Amino acid sequence: MNKFYITSSLPYTNAPAHIGHLLEFIQADVLTRYNRLLGNEVFFLTGTDEHGRKNVQAAEKKEKSPQEFVNEISAGFKELTKIAGISIDKFVRTTDQFNHWPAVHKIWKKLRDNGDLYKAEYEGLYCIGHEAFIKKSELKDGLCLEHQTEPEKIKEENYFFKLSKYKNQIEKLIQEDKIKILPVHRKNETLKLIKDSEDVSASRPKESISWGVPVPGDSGHIIYIWLEALISYLSGIGYADETEVFKKFWPPDIQIVGKDIMRFHTIIWPAMLLAAGLELPKSIYVHGFITVDGQKMSKTIGNVTDPFDLVKKYGVDPIRYYLLREISSYEDGDWSEKKFEARYNADLANNLGNLVSRVVALIEKFFNGSFSCSRRFVSKEIDEKVIDTWKKYNQSIDNFKLHIALENVFSLVGFANLYIDEHKPWAISGNPEKLNIVMTNLIVILLNVAWLLKPFLPETSSNIFEILGADKDGKSWEEKPFQVRPRILFPKI
Ligand SMILES: [Zn+2]
Repeated sequence: MNKFYITSSLPYTNAPAHIGHLLEFIQADVLTRYNRLLGNEVFFLTGTDEHGRKNVQAAEKKEKSPQEFVNEISAGFKELTKIAGISIDKFVRTTDQFNHWPAVHKIWKKLRDNGDLYKAEYEGLYCIGHEAFIKKSELKDGLCLEHQTEPEKIKEENYFFKLSKYKNQIEKLIQEDKIKILPVHRKNETLKLIKDSEDVSASRPKESISWGVPVPGDSGHIIYIWLEALISYLSGIGYADETEVFKKFWPPDIQIVGKDIMRFHTIIWPAMLLAAGLELPKSIYVHGFITVDGQKMSKTIGNVTDPFDLVKKYGVDPIRYYLLREISSYEDGDWSEKKFEARYNADLANNLGNLVSRVVALIEKFFNGSFSCSRRFVSKEIDEKVIDTWKKYNQSIDNFKLHIALENVFSLVGFANLYIDEHKPWAISGNPEKLNIVMTNLIVILLNVAWLLKPFLPETSSNIFEILGADKDGKSWEEKPFQVRPRILFPKI
């Protein structure tokens, strides 16, 4: 049994969850469930990133204290993981002074003792939207390109982290895939960014930013939130006390992040770990953004899509399906209710739902609702088709192409529907041997579809077993007859 430690990034708490957060949670959940099925011992961590000026400003707008405000938003994210079936093991909160802060202090001291922190005067442009210093090249007409706001000109004393000391080492690790960055174009982008990387600000004076973790031994400074938030991947598994969980699971096997925060995870984070003498993450998967009806989500347009509403309206699995199938794991994708309904009807209702109904109807009609399988009836053609699907599916998941993995599952479903059309079980009812072969093949395909869907659509997978009357998730398929329990898997929209 191997250990498998996976993290999603920690959503920032200045605003409630939107559909983009749900996408990342779901992607991480698929990899989590997949690894559990492989028999690995899995730990899945997420949480909320709660410090920084942006949170304070958002709290002021709602006339709440920062803590009160982030408590509410954080609870919303946690609730989202529950309703979307996200099987997390730990939800970290960066305002947790008992577990998170001691880990942050421990890392800070390691960096300091290693001579990797120094104080210097800093002059730069700070964008609150980014919660980061930005470069002049990121401005247009004096405004931050992404946030359309004017950055503050800041001149202050900061602690700096000697990123430059580690950049050559990180460059080599990434080139050699010791830190594997997927997709490859993100790896190349990182390699370009590393070349221009300079030492980074590691603290800000308390007067500029009070909502955060104080620098140990220098309470006039607050640890820069980016450095501090990254440490949640350590604090959440017990780094402060070096617990058994920490010893077992560190380092992360996969860390999933959005493209906007890639640089922090692929450059600054490994540098911090090298400085602290800790093992590095094995891979970092970078996903794109979701637009809504082709437009960037924004409060001004009013198209920020609430994942709670969607799950309530359509159910968890249909939403999981759309986000995992329609949106490339690698690229930007689009949410549109129209496209969702089209996909739902075509793939879930007409393809998968229909296949289940057809097989169940045949068992009812020709076997009085109870059918016994035997391995000797499985055709070589079907065996090979199933094995080939698993091969492509496993490869796709290993390469963070979740949409391709699902495409393969649904092409097997389509194959089975064609198989029924071609073999016309209703026309061979007079030939029990032939009919047994056709029906066994169909059951074998359906069981495999349900197994393949487990990490992606856990509820649907269980429903298929239930409708087929498959015991122990179909693992006893040769021992007991299938007593079908017909019902509609996906009613048409
Ligand atoms: Zn900005």
